[in-house]
Amino acid sequence: MNFLSRVRESLVRFMQGRNGVDNLGMCTLFSGLIISLLGSFLRSPLLSFLGLALYIVTLFRMLSRNREKRMQENRKYLSLTSGWKTRFNQFVKRQQNRKEYKFFKCPKCKTLLRMKKGTGEKDITCPKCGHSFHQKA
Ligand SMILES: [Zn+2]
Repeated sequence: MNFLSRVRESLVRFMQGRNGVDNLGMCTLFSGLIISLLGSFLRSPLLSFLGLALYIVTLFRMLSRNREKRMQENRKYLSLTSGWKTRFNQFVKRQQNRKEYKFFKCPKCKTLLRMKKGTGEKDITCPKCGHSFHQKA
């Protein structure tokens, strides 16, 4: 067995049963990177310390053997951020299509809907909750 595969195997053995990198880990790693870069750029010891703290949190979560707890944290992180990601993606889509479509929300379930501009007035049934309402475009 050559040196590299021995290193790889011992690394695999070392990481067995540990959490590794998850979505929250990527988030803390990248925010740590950005904050510590900002800290050295602005010569702010507080930001550098914060960046270091985020690295330590990332490392701790990566090497943690309490996978159940780490998975819980990751799920919480995902559920907290998914709403923001959806809203952001919807905003981008709206900006791209605002000339062609009129965007509005279903008055009952607040789902974002769209209608081609120039269609005039129309009765619309929400595809999500089935609520019918009148809409102008
Ligand atoms: Zn609806």
